[in-house]
Amino acid sequence: MIPMNTHYTELKDSYLFYRIAQKVNAYLEEHPGARLYRMGIGDVSLPLCSAVIRALHEAVDDQAVKSRFHGYMPECGAPFLREAIAGYYAQRGVTLAPDEAFVSSGASDELGDILDLFDRSSTALVIEPAYPAYVDANVLAGRKILHLASGKENGFLPEPDEGLQADLLYICSPNNPTGAVFTREKLQKWVDYANRHGSLILFDAAYEAFIEDPTLPHSIFELPGARTCAVEICSLSKTAGFTGTRLGYTVIPKDLERGGLRLNDMWVRNRTTKTNGVSYIIQKGGAAVFTPEGQRQVRENIQVYKSNAKLLTDVLDKLGVWYCGGKNAPYIWMKCPDGLTSWAFFDRLLHEIQVVGTPGEGFGACGEGYFRFSTFGDPEDTKEAARRLTGLLGRR
Ligand code: PLP
Repeated sequence: MIPMNTHYTELKDSYLFYRIAQKVNAYLEEHPGARLYRMGIGDVSLPLCSAVIRALHEAVDDQAVKSRFHGYMPECGAPFLREAIAGYYAQRGVTLAPDEAFVSSGASDELGDILDLFDRSSTALVIEPAYPAYVDANVLAGRKILHLASGKENGFLPEPDEGLQADLLYICSPNNPTGAVFTREKLQKWVDYANRHGSLILFDAAYEAFIEDPTLPHSIFELPGARTCAVEICSLSKTAGFTGTRLGYTVIPKDLERGGLRLNDMWVRNRTTKTNGVSYIIQKGGAAVFTPEGQRQVRENIQVYKSNAKLLTDVLDKLGVWYCGGKNAPYIWMKCPDGLTSWAFFDRLLHEIQVVGTPGEGFGACGEGYFRFSTFGDPEDTKEAARRLTGLLGRR
């Protein structure tokens, strides 16, 4: 018998989005043809911008011509894209060498694969509520997980406690699901903690492009000391609508060492062993995001999602409902009314106003009593959902 990875049996069996889909399907069976307003999805609703589409078409044409054809790409990313990423960081005053940016097929892949760099005996700290993949990837690897609860009292942005003993620290800012964003001062405390303890921060910056407050950090590398304690995982999924096209990047500074090993060198070795690079066509499309035209166009799309956020936060402001997020993040995290549990509020929204959101409990126990709205939906649907929400919450 092959010894199997039995950690699969330790995963929570009813994954959040699966349970939501079950409830929605049951409702649709009872109410055939019902119109639903989906404010739960983390997927984008707008198409790729024209600068990206043009670059993708040109790259397809290159593949038809012998002199412009590309076969295997460099495993760690095409130089033209690694340079474009370094240029993007430079605009924010962060100096990166192009070979500190590794091109990936998206943040999810990297969040799982990066764990190859650490022994299974290392411990992972997950600040909750959290994106479920952090916990699941570590469960599968058999790693001990420490859950650090956050709450309304600290704005869902906890500070490190000297008593904490964790090797890997997951920080997601802007956060999914809470929409909370670390200030420089608060993030600096985690950087200092990690450097003091020899821990390593896995900084998930998938939503950095949604930050509009100029005082908030987009990248952990804007902070002194981060180059010796952090890896940053980024994605073009939400920034530029690449959820289906698939492209991301991971920044691993060359100064980052643990146990006498340089993580940048280890990752080069990992990528050259485990991948054959991301497609030339997709990397060309990704590089177009970082051109001035691409940047202008992706920001226009982000503004559409921000208008969605405003429709929903205006309702919550008017009714005096507590929430965070929505301004510098595409998620709104609200307190459920009338002391309802998050699944009870989910059922009420679905059955009374046909709005679908995401129960906070699915992101960790401390998410109970909260609810997440995504702002990636269709603007007309969001407008109608906001109108219905006003009616429902105003009736209390
Ligand atoms: N990290 C966070 C916090 C996310 O919310 C998501 C997707 O929703 C991802 C990573 C995954 O992004 P990608 O589409 O690049 O795999």
